[in-house]
Amino acid sequence: EVRVRFAPSPTGYLHVGGARTALFNWLYASNVGGKLILRVEDTDLSRSTKESENAVLEDLKWLGIKWAEGPDIGGSHGPYRQSERTDIYKKYVNQLVEQGLAYPCFCTDEELAQMKLEAEKKKLPPVYRGKWATASQEEVEAEKAKGTPYCYRFRVPKNELVTIQDLIRGEVSWNTDNLGDFVLLRSNGQPVYNFCVAVDDALMKITHVIRAEEHLPNTLRQVLIYEALGFPTPIFGHVSLILAPDKSKLSKRHGATSVGEFRQEGYLPEAMLNFLALLGWNDGTEQELFTTEELQQKFSLDRITKSAAVFDKTKLSWMNGQILRALPDEQLEPMVAERWLASGLLKRADSPFVKAAAHICKKSLELVTDGEEELRGLLLYPLEDTLASDRAKPVVEDNFKEVAEAVLQAHDSGELASALESGADGFKKWIKAVGKAQGRKGKRLFMPVRIAMTGGMEGPDVGELLALLNMEQDDVADGVKFV
Ligand code: GLU
Repeated sequence: EVRVRFAPSPTGYLHVGGARTALFNWLYASNVGGKLILRVEDTDLSRSTKESENAVLEDLKWLGIKWAEGPDIGGSHGPYRQSERTDIYKKYVNQLVEQGLAYPCFCTDEELAQMKLEAEKKKLPPVYRGKWATASQEEVEAEKAKGTPYCYRFRVPKNELVTIQDLIRGEVSWNTDNLGDFVLLRSNGQPVYNFCVAVDDALMKITHVIRAEEHLPNTLRQVLIYEALGFPTPIFGHVSLILAPDKSKLSKRHGATSVGEFRQEGYLPEAMLNFLALLGWNDGTEQELFTTEELQQKFSLDRITKSAAVFDKTKLSWMNGQILRALPDEQLEPMVAERWLASGLLKRADSPFVKAAAHICKKSLELVTDGEEELRGLLLYPLEDTLASDRAKPVVEDNFKEVAEAVLQAHDSGELASALESGADGFKKWIKAVGKAQGRKGKRLFMPVRIAMTGGMEGPDVGELLALLNMEQDDVADGVKFV
């Protein structure tokens, strides 16, 4: 059975890189009928918070990623928070000590700093060469009796070549001589990160470790620990970085980088998920829009790309627009209505007016938040600004006033309202009549009518818009102006 994991450190929000790692793992598990395990790596107690853990889980759920075992739902390989597994780590340190593969080290910080300096002078790698690696049982007992604090170090085998076949990076090798005897358990009883990861992945029966490239250097220590404890090594896949469009590492200065920020900005989870899936993966075709089910069916590890992926927010917005506009009106209405209510444009969210307005706005939405600007644009009547603009000049000079007056008259006499109520082509018939009376047609007729009726030179179909404005306006908040 395939078992993969996502192992966030709860020290902040879920970033797009982490979300992509979680997604690749989940899609792979879904594709092969395996399981995704969620493990919270909170060994760094000073930086880990419960709020962060909750926020990360919330964002994963919002994206639609589902796990089979985790801190919130339990499972048969728990506990799923590293802070609750300290006894397990201690047990395996003891096992390694008994096997002679780990040893207590009483070196002080000063001694360690001294060793590092000497190694630098001799141009040797900064690895542990202290006496405790070879100390006798008696020396150790004597030091313990003195009460000197000590940590446990892993005895790294000498001059060994460790090789992995990384699913994405290919063959990767390290010589163990560049690695010192590293710490497993600190003198304060805190286990060290790489040790925890290896023990957890082994005990949680993880078959594939798919994670960010930045963790590749950790793999050597982790493989050594698997081997020392007699656990089979999992298959590794280190996914390339995500870069900003300027090819530098994606960071805060490029804008939103956490999933929560995109959610706030009005992106749909389906769009975010689609976009993340294509950050370093493709199905071998030009297809860019996938439903989540399609991704689950098509995802495969061998199509993860080796080159870095570029985070192109324009593409995310484009995807969002495609998905948003393809939603049925009933699904879109409550989403935009919620924004309209929140921004004070509407008094109530559910009315024929909202339905009609959502339908009109839909065509030009990329993000659901764009709805606010769209509706404002429809409701406000920027006539003076429009008439003063250079673009409107030819229309104004072509006797705009005359058409505007005819329109106003039709409005005041109720003629326009009855035309609008008389069915789908009521408005068309009416405007034709205006054209006839004014001796105008085409753009010479439609543009002045549009300006007179909506105050602007562009927007949705004038008839559709007028039907909206002709509706019961009680739902619209006070202070919002009308034609
Ligand atoms: N906790 C690590 C992180 O958040 C992940 C470690 C791993 O996947 O092995 O970056």
